[in-house]
Amino acid sequence: EAVVNRIAAGEVVLAPSSALKELLENSIDAQATSIDVACKEGGLKLLQITDNGVGIAKDDLAIVCERFTTSKLRKFEDLQHIASYGFRGEALASISHIAHVSLVTKTRDSPCAWKCRYEAGRLDLRTPEPQPVAGTDGTTLVVEDLFYNFPSRLHSLRSPAEEYAKIVDIVSKYAIHATHVGFTCKKYGTAANDIALRSGMSQKERVRAIYGSAVASQLLELDVEPHTDYGLLKCTGLITNVNYDNKKSTPPIFFINGRLVSCDPLRRAIAQTYSTYLPKGHKPFVFLSLELDTVNVDVNVHPTKQEVRFLFEDEIVDHVTQKIAQILANTDV
Ligand code: ADP
Ligand code: MG
Repeated sequence: EAVVNRIAAGEVVLAPSSALKELLENSIDAQATSIDVACKEGGLKLLQITDNGVGIAKDDLAIVCERFTTSKLRKFEDLQHIASYGFRGEALASISHIAHVSLVTKTRDSPCAWKCRYEAGRLDLRTPEPQPVAGTDGTTLVVEDLFYNFPSRLHSLRSPAEEYAKIVDIVSKYAIHATHVGFTCKKYGTAANDIALRSGMSQKERVRAIYGSAVASQLLELDVEPHTDYGLLKCTGLITNVNYDNKKSTPPIFFINGRLVSCDPLRRAIAQTYSTYLPKGHKPFVFLSLELDTVNVDVNVHPTKQEVRFLFEDEIVDHVTQKIAQILANTDV
């Protein structure tokens, strides 16, 4: 059984950056306004994420790493909305099967923080009781020795430097998405942050800080009319205009219902739209955040299969790209 769990976990967590993605989403779900990431060896040796969110109640600590344990489905009706979040309650469980997980957490009404370690979905038997410690409100989650029991995965990963670059990339994208949250990211033990974004910084300022002023100076704001017949509740974003002449490509960034996803039909349609306006080889910067009616999002898409499927895909893709075309056509050259 242990081996089965480990293999399943290895399918959910492909690299330190995919573990981090889940942990970032947990911190954002916990209403954090500040998230600090630190790693050793590209997150393979250590991945630490500290948030100032609501924390985890002491009574829940025994089960948070069990499969399907989630605090995010409170009502029966939530079950039909499960789709937009992918599978529920799998992230921490998976990580605990292929790494050493420990955490320190404090809820506002707890007199102290609690510390515990997990092993394979359970509290670590060596210290089965959470230990009281000093701490501030929120949660620090530490993942150590990722893939220690999964040598083939460990060997398939490239250098720590590349894994770290992927971590910085994930933090950057969530930072552009969640502008109410301040983010830092650094190598553990060093003073200098590789990412440092205050919580008040606008989306444009964040793009400038992360991708540079060449991109930021050519940004247009996008606010697409909702289309409730298709379940498109909201679509906002930032895109570069027709003057943007940087050849360095940043693939389009899509968030759907708060999760970073791939959406090939949307990516292709946007590339097609831009091809009329941008010289060949010039890659636009595109950041889009869509809110879709959760009942329309495919239930069977696994959280790590980043490609997302949803109903009225053609209609929504058309609707969004038409708006982009309209905006590009109206920019002055
Ligand atoms: P899910 O996010 O789908 O609920 P996870 O395995 O990612 O499943 O997390 C399990 C549970 O642990 C969450 O539902 C939440 O209650 C709790 N949790 C995890 N991370 C945090 C955090 N940073 N702050 C508060 N609670 C957390
Ligand atoms: Mg989660």
